[in-house]
Amino acid sequence: MNSPVCGAGYELTPRQRELIALAESLGPRFAERAARYDREASFPHENYADLKAAGLLSLCVPEKFGGRGADLKSYSLVSATLGKYCGATALTFNMHACSTLWPGVLSDALDMTDEQRAEHEKHRAIHFARVVSEGAIYAQPFSEGSAAAAGRAPFGTTATRADGGWLINGRKIFASLSGAANYYGLLCTENKPELSMRDTLYIAVPATAPGLTVTGEWDPLGMRGTVSRNLVFKDVFVPDEAQMMPRGVYFQAASRWPHMFTTLSPTYLGIAIAAYEFTVAYLRGEIQGVPVKRRMYPTKQIAVAEMWVKLEQTRALFLRMLEDARVDPPKEARLRAYAAQFTLMENANDICRLAIRTCGGQSMLKSLPLERMYRDSRCGSLMLPWTAELCLDRIGREALYEPGESDE
Ligand SMILES: Cc1cc2nc3c(=O)[nH]c(=O)nc-3n(C[C@H](O)[C@H](O)[C@H](O)COP(=O)(O)OP(=O)(O)OC[C@H]3O[C@@H](n4cnc5c(N)ncnc54)[C@H](O)[C@@H]3O)c2cc1C
Repeated sequence: MNSPVCGAGYELTPRQRELIALAESLGPRFAERAARYDREASFPHENYADLKAAGLLSLCVPEKFGGRGADLKSYSLVSATLGKYCGATALTFNMHACSTLWPGVLSDALDMTDEQRAEHEKHRAIHFARVVSEGAIYAQPFSEGSAAAAGRAPFGTTATRADGGWLINGRKIFASLSGAANYYGLLCTENKPELSMRDTLYIAVPATAPGLTVTGEWDPLGMRGTVSRNLVFKDVFVPDEAQMMPRGVYFQAASRWPHMFTTLSPTYLGIAIAAYEFTVAYLRGEIQGVPVKRRMYPTKQIAVAEMWVKLEQTRALFLRMLEDARVDPPKEARLRAYAAQFTLMENANDICRLAIRTCGGQSMLKSLPLERMYRDSRCGSLMLPWTAELCLDRIGREALYEPGESDE
């Protein structure tokens, strides 16, 4: 079918159309390489060279800093497009792109004092120049295996004030792009007598910084090309300009710009679309190696119809959620964002499940991409802070309680 990820007939700006076409043009090469990255659990370096050559590493860098100036919606459409071809590339691209989206267009909508704004302009110019001029890749290691990445406790990784900068100590788990990123944009807590979530700092540590080591094995079920190993920080010094947002601004962003946490989900819409399209091609006898048509069986037709219904429900909520994204969205939009994230993550895996059941035994052979999509799609709803469980948890609580209410 090859309509854009938003579906045929959906209104796009000329810029969005151009960006989607650019991502589409890289897709076939990504799809060709995906099985190898998956088999080796190796990072998609060649795909990143292509992203760099296409100017997509600076997708979300604001235009005044030399980037393509994509907002959340444009980013999400590009990300979903990449996800159709290689889930691991799209997911890691999320970490990189959001390292520029958050200090970029998202931060512009937040409150800062004149002093903070001036500091932010100075610091972000340095980060953006690295991406635009040098093709630097940024990762986003937040998870620690505690309640912090779920937004329920301060990060245990700390930043202690030092002359002209910060000393970082701590450990991160599941750091996608480990060993491949040039900078690790981590969340940590300013070291004070009592650690507080309000003192969360967003700081980029160069991969070459003394005291930083990548540790642990990486041999997971899916999303194997993300190479999400552990990072250990031992007295790692970074200068002030390493800050990607001024003090206190990450906490403000997390409270006031909830859609910032939806950026993982477009990858999974892409996977869902790819699984659906694979199923149609398979049943039409168009997949190389399995040329037998099976589309004439009513059971197959019903299964494809079910997949289409699920895909359209997912896509519709995704697009609606993108329209809502802004600072201080109304409560309903916030709840809808949780619902969209839940739906995207869970339905992507369900569509892949139906695809394998419908196509049958030969479709799950490793010579075909469907079994990889199935495994990759399982990883979506595990990702903090908005796992499927935590989305339900938040919807239930926020639907029943207004801020400040309790039953005491
Ligand atoms: C492929 C992949 C790539 C990843 N890449 C990155 C990355 O680049 N950067 C990064 O920071 N992280 C990354 N992660 C980590 C991810 O975001 C989660 O932190 C990780 O999957 C959590 O695993 P855990 O077992 O420690 O979860 P736990 O914290 O033990 O949680 C287990 C489950 O319990 C539920 N839960 C957790 N806290 C609560 C609570 N307070 N209330 C109710 N339920 C709760 C959640 O549903 C969660 O799924 C990645 C994960 C995967 C699978």
